[in-house]
Amino acid sequence: MMTTTTTIIGFPRIGEKRELKFATEKYFKNKISQEELRTTAKELRKSNWKLLQQEGIDAIPSNDFSYYDQTLDAAFLFNLVPQDVQDLPFSELDKYFALARGYQGEEGNVLAWPMKKWFNTNYHYLVPQLNQDTHFKLTGNKIFAEFEEAKELGIITRPVLIGPFTLLKLSEYQNVTARDFINDAVTAYKEVFNRLADSGAKWIQLDDPALVKDLTTEDRQLFNELYQPLLNAKGKLKVLLQTYFGDVRDIYDDLIELPFDGLGLDFVEGKQTLQLVSHHFPEDKTLFAGIVNGKNIWRNHYDKSLTQLKKAGVKKLVVSTSCSLLHVPITVKNENFEPAVKEHFAFAVEKLGELNDLAAIYEGSAKEKLRANQELFAKQRVQEDAELHKQIANLKDEDFVRQPARQVREKIQKAEFHLPLLPTTTIGSFPQTKEVRQTRRQFRRHEINQEQYDNFIKGKIDEWLKWQEKIGLDVLVHGEFERNDMVEYFGQHLSGYIFSKNAWVQSYGTRCVKPPIIWGDIKRQQPITIKWSKYAQSQTKKLVKGMLTGPVTILNWSFPREDISLRESTLQLALAIQKEVLDLEANGIKIIQIDEAALREKLPLRKSDWYSEYLNWAIPAFRLVHSKVKPETQIHTHMCYSEFSDIVPAIDAMDADVISFEASRSNLEILDTLKKQHFETEVGPGVYDIHSPRIPSVDEVKATINRILAKIAAPKVWINPDCGLKTRGVEETRASLANVIEATREVRRQL
Ligand code: GLN
Ligand code: ZN
Repeated sequence: MMTTTTTIIGFPRIGEKRELKFATEKYFKNKISQEELRTTAKELRKSNWKLLQQEGIDAIPSNDFSYYDQTLDAAFLFNLVPQDVQDLPFSELDKYFALARGYQGEEGNVLAWPMKKWFNTNYHYLVPQLNQDTHFKLTGNKIFAEFEEAKELGIITRPVLIGPFTLLKLSEYQNVTARDFINDAVTAYKEVFNRLADSGAKWIQLDDPALVKDLTTEDRQLFNELYQPLLNAKGKLKVLLQTYFGDVRDIYDDLIELPFDGLGLDFVEGKQTLQLVSHHFPEDKTLFAGIVNGKNIWRNHYDKSLTQLKKAGVKKLVVSTSCSLLHVPITVKNENFEPAVKEHFAFAVEKLGELNDLAAIYEGSAKEKLRANQELFAKQRVQEDAELHKQIANLKDEDFVRQPARQVREKIQKAEFHLPLLPTTTIGSFPQTKEVRQTRRQFRRHEINQEQYDNFIKGKIDEWLKWQEKIGLDVLVHGEFERNDMVEYFGQHLSGYIFSKNAWVQSYGTRCVKPPIIWGDIKRQQPITIKWSKYAQSQTKKLVKGMLTGPVTILNWSFPREDISLRESTLQLALAIQKEVLDLEANGIKIIQIDEAALREKLPLRKSDWYSEYLNWAIPAFRLVHSKVKPETQIHTHMCYSEFSDIVPAIDAMDADVISFEASRSNLEILDTLKKQHFETEVGPGVYDIHSPRIPSVDEVKATINRILAKIAAPKVWINPDCGLKTRGVEETRASLANVIEATREVRRQL
């Protein structure tokens, strides 16, 4: 019998103390040299390899390290970099950062490539832009250099590279198509194979997660045209085709026919993976079974995993993670949770131990590990809230429907509020200056008392309310100065949430997020936003919007439970936020905005699952939050993007009265779709880009408003920026908004 071994798809590269982030940011600010940055990176790679070795992982990957993003790495490896970037008189690394972040300076002006969400994760990759000038060929060296680097440490690694199918599928094209690059891509990947084999590599791992999406006949053809010639030329090098984030049902038949040496399949998110494998898996191939969840932080349930592995019943088995560990924090060791809490978590490092345990148990040893795991899962981890469960079980259809219908409410609200045509507002937050962040920190550390803190926040609210009144905004906001983050702030006021100290996960480049953890059943412990909303409303005759985060976004930006469904947790969150909504209403707040910035985040990768697996409960969960308010209370929502043309009916079915969204960068394209599909919700398409410090001129904003009015009738339109202003400076914010108000006034006069 073959022994069962272990591996991982990739390890987090940012460092246990976010060393790479801090070093890179210092480098950007010219505080350290390139040499120093490279040294930090090299040390991180070394310590990761050594760690994997010490933990007993059998096959160790390399080239999973990245200074910014693995797709960008592939673009540099294969000469996909635009000429203007190549022409910069910079080092390779500086060209790389220029393309990642844009460069504007003495040596030129190059745009950053756009960034997109990496499949269904909160990681973002750079989208390669290919055109007729792109010459796909091997020019880079990183993958070879890192293989050599590990070899010098005595470790023969398995280099990881994004697969040609996914690389071509994720790229965007101008005047060319993916098919134009097939031959060159095959040649270039072949060369990578040869060079790695010459250096002593035994395996290569090609990551092709795009295979878990719905595939067309053309996609299958593209895949085969890439891989048939490539695999024919693999020689002695073994090829692992690695997939993740779902199952490969549309291409499985081809995968088992082609001469891959290993197939990496996801048993966690891939609903049909087990079925496919147990039906047929060729004896000569190795199955890399992704059984340990690479996306969540809970301990693996060994019995469940082993049942799957046994049912898979393959001859050659490697126990692996469901996706790269990039998406989880590094280690539980750095957290100070109670032992009874800690024992339930496995971050990246702890997952390595789980892989070893599973392989050993599968082989019939390590019985005590299995027993310990069974005992862990037999414990009652959380006290279930029976009343809450009953409340959810008893929810009726009418609980999800607000009465009366939106058109009726619209008339009532217009009569109630007397707002001018094209009402102006903002999305919620105003600049979080150093002073604001520092004062919050002082309060957290008990350096100032509650009264001092409250007075500070009151002062900020007063200052900004006065200013909003002065420039003539119609619907005001209190500014969110008390909030560190739109999810954490709410989590801190809900039971069932816990917070880590160091559980950072890379979101893009040097940016990391620290998602809170849903530990148990969720209930509103106390009013969350009432105090400040009420205070703000008491200081002005104008309407002040209440400002909440919606249940779907709170869920999507947290680490969710695995013992109950996402739907169940979201409904718990919805009931908690519903209480807050009704409380705001009872306290005289007439307009309430419920942000769903991350609604799209967990949209399934397969279109056929969009409604049945997600939208069919996510949208009602949002409705549950506001279904019980009075007709004259106006509900707003906000989304940080305008890519919802494919789910317009679902967005309308949120049944908000008004929705604001990012639109200025995406050229207002969404408006055509809204018009065509008779979108009913009133809309506030952002009239300027808040991601840039640039101040839009009055004429620019006027032009934008006029373009909006060409598509949407004026009584349905609101005027607002793209998103909250917390990351902007005070001066630019004030100048920009003043121009927005002036532009709106001028347009109103023409109507
Ligand atoms: N109300 C929030 C703010 O203005 C919304 C933030 C967001 O959409 N990401 O900051
Ligand atoms: Zn936003």
